[in-house]
Amino acid sequence: MSKIVIAIDGYSGCGKSSTAKEVAEKLGFTYIDSGAMYRATALHFLNEKLSPLRSEDVVKGLESLQISFQHNSTTHQQETFLNGVNVEDEIRTMRISERVSEVATVKLIRAELVAQQQKLGQNKGVVMDGRDIGSVVFPEAELKLFMTADVDTRAKRRQIELLAKGEHVPLEEIKLNLESRDQVDSNRSESPLQKVSDAIEIDTSSLTFFEQVEQIIDLAKKVKIN
Ligand code: C5P
Repeated sequence: MSKIVIAIDGYSGCGKSSTAKEVAEKLGFTYIDSGAMYRATALHFLNEKLSPLRSEDVVKGLESLQISFQHNSTTHQQETFLNGVNVEDEIRTMRISERVSEVATVKLIRAELVAQQQKLGQNKGVVMDGRDIGSVVFPEAELKLFMTADVDTRAKRRQIELLAKGEHVPLEEIKLNLESRDQVDSNRSESPLQKVSDAIEIDTSSLTFFEQVEQIIDLAKKVKIN
């Protein structure tokens, strides 16, 4: 199969990341979790006690920010590193979910992370998920998908994921966080979450994980390269 770029955007908690990861694995492509980069940035600002809303802090924060991904050969999972430290578990906690969308509204932060994402995907053969992949990061992506699911389904799935990591969070709290992130992500002035006109919408509310993955692989196989 030719090396293409698959851009997956959509609301929080639709299963974009797990689906994208599996699609990449099956196609032999590289998976890039752009949300993890915003999450790691939010953690960095918290650790350094910097405010994403103060421009001097943003400059300082970006100067000392280094994000990378490494494959864990035991778990076969990709893990996120912030300045050399494995932060994979920490960035998935509610503490970060509650702050990340504010960090992601900042123009300078987005510009830096978008540039890094474009570099990571420059050789194609990538599946990248996020909020602005089809609109800003890879507007020329050969396949653009927009994933949705009703908020109750998303909250339940997220609760199971958090529980598996030992964090018990009431369903209502998760639902409020998902709704609030959707609201901030869709209404910010910098690259808001939107379904671009050439994206194919996939509603995952009543799809199994296996069905989601198969649907995307089928679509990828049908892509014609000029
Ligand atoms: O994908 P995930 O839910 O981990 O993303 C966390 C947050 O990062 C989103 O709610 C959004 O605020 C931000 N984000 C973004 N643009 C992306 C990916 C994530 O603004 N491409």
